[in-house]
Amino acid sequence: MPRTRTSTSYPLPRTIQLLEYVHTPPRPVVDDDTRATFPAILARDHYRCAYCGRKGADTVDHVFPKSRGGDESYGNLVAACAPCNQVKADRTPEEAGMPLLWIPRAPRADLKRQRAIWRDLTPTP
Ligand SMILES: [Zn+2]
Repeated sequence: MPRTRTSTSYPLPRTIQLLEYVHTPPRPVVDDDTRATFPAILARDHYRCAYCGRKGADTVDHVFPKSRGGDESYGNLVAACAPCNQVKADRTPEEAGMPLLWIPRAPRADLKRQRAIWRDLTPTP
């Protein structure tokens, strides 16, 4: 089939109207976009609170608050005990003065380092 060359000109618009604005929320503290379930987060963190280090954490905290656009990814969720989760509330760890004991990541990353942190947090008899 022979190619044909066409030439058409269009006038440039003076203004462009924005019909829809897609709000992009601020990025979470740690960039790992894989969506996670709450049971997966509790298992990844071995039911240890990311703020006080105690065992038996049974809630999941959004590091960057969900109310401010924080997502449910491995990089934004940590296991937390109910008291720490309640005290932190809708604040970032920095705002709440509650630094994370580890940086939340997908389970495959830094597993060896994570185990060393848990070992260091375990009191010796
Ligand atoms: Zn705690």
